[in-house]
Amino acid sequence: MPIATTNPTTGQVLKSFEAMSAEQLDAAIERADLAYQRLRDTTIDQRGRWLTAAADLLEAERDETARLMTSEMGKTYAAAKAEVTKCATACRFYATKAAEFLADEPADAGAVKATRAFIRYQPIGPVLAVMPWNFPLWQVMRFAAPALMAGNTGLLKHASNVPQTALLLEDLFRRAGFPEGAFTTLLAGSDAVDPVLSDPRVRAATLTGSEGAGRSIAQIAGRELKKTVLELGGSDPFVVMPSADLDRAAEVATTARCQNNGQSCIAAKRFIVHTDVFDAFAERFAANMSALRVGDPMDDTTDVGPLATERGRDEVHAQVRDAVDQGATVLCGGEPPARDGWWYPPTVVTDLRPEMRMWSEEVFGPVAGLFRVSSYDEAIEVANGTTFGLGSNAWTRDPREQERFATDLDAGNVFINGMTTSFPELPFGGVRNSGYGRELSALGMREFCNVKTVWVG
Ligand code: NAP
Repeated sequence: MPIATTNPTTGQVLKSFEAMSAEQLDAAIERADLAYQRLRDTTIDQRGRWLTAAADLLEAERDETARLMTSEMGKTYAAAKAEVTKCATACRFYATKAAEFLADEPADAGAVKATRAFIRYQPIGPVLAVMPWNFPLWQVMRFAAPALMAGNTGLLKHASNVPQTALLLEDLFRRAGFPEGAFTTLLAGSDAVDPVLSDPRVRAATLTGSEGAGRSIAQIAGRELKKTVLELGGSDPFVVMPSADLDRAAEVATTARCQNNGQSCIAAKRFIVHTDVFDAFAERFAANMSALRVGDPMDDTTDVGPLATERGRDEVHAQVRDAVDQGATVLCGGEPPARDGWWYPPTVVTDLRPEMRMWSEEVFGPVAGLFRVSSYDEAIEVANGTTFGLGSNAWTRDPREQERFATDLDAGNVFINGMTTSFPELPFGGVRNSGYGRELSALGMREFCNVKTVWVG
């Protein structure tokens, strides 16, 4: 992919960038390694002051930053502003909590008597972060804030369609006071990932992206024996049982499917509804989806902007066509408008069958699959019936069912009577083909630490 900002509302290229040469990449890795030697010797208090300064800058510059994100990938300006604020919150969270998360932990050495034994968390060095465009600031921040606080340095290979947001991030950490090279943006295509991750100075990698990219990075990291965290795709189930508050469920379902123009890994994508309430839910849900306003993402009244790329829009439409051609029913939407830019209307498709792509694939746009089931067991079978396991939602007021869903849904996150989301306080990640490892909370910070056992006789 060319490294360029292209306006998704028109398809016009606004700004292009040259990919960095092998020599420039090498120099960036060298700076990251040198910065690591310095950063690991700074105090947590010092790093906390720099990260707090980054939060202050984000808050002070929220509107310009949000406008840039909207221009690069089409999310609504309101959503972009909320993303900037969320990033500032995460910076403050790690600036405050790092001392607790990184403190030595006393341990009992058991049968082998020690004067003392403890666990010490130490940084490991430069970490490569390969990131997607859908939350161009947040995806990076949830890696960068804990990694920098732990004393690691970051090398960002951002998605090729958000180069200006990528450069803004490098600039943000520099202005906040972090040493030169502590956080560097590599303007590079995905072909640079192998040489960068193979470099002995780069100690680990984190990827948020598609399953294909995950497999590719895991192979390189396997060959090089390097730690990886993989946050990959998902096709989250949203189960509605007879005791659910249907109005609320249909309202949240609409937001959960169409947030970020339908391009979120943890968007609810498959709506699995008990037959007793299927018609009532379907009617409410289709009405809500049809009522969403599609339009200019800078306009305050817009709910859904364009998709980020032409290829992404075409893929979503191909998945819908595949279902319709094999007999699925469209309750609303289903046809992109004939105009410039990469628009797709909020769409609900039902009567899906296992041979259709929408049954098991991730649909990365505002398109919901609606499934009818007649029991709890069938709901679980359909919910767990893809290769993914990222987020999941269940709607029921029955406490016994709530308990069963929490155990039976095969996913990294289970949200009951609410929308799956990420918080700095709680771990985030998937199982199965949605990846492994965790971001956020203390666990996210420790993924890129040497968890060192110290035993003193
Ligand atoms: P993508 O094509 O995998 O791109 C993500 C990043 O990986 C980009 O920087 C991309 O670079 C790079 N990349 C792509 N193929 C690669 C390869 N073979 N080797 C090395 N790097 C490679 O994903 P996307 O379409 O932009 O993003 C959507 C996907 O990300 C969805 O599946 C979504 O569910 C997932 N996602 C997951 C999470 C999560 O937390 N689990 C969060 C957000 C998104 P280029 O741009 O240069 O191609």
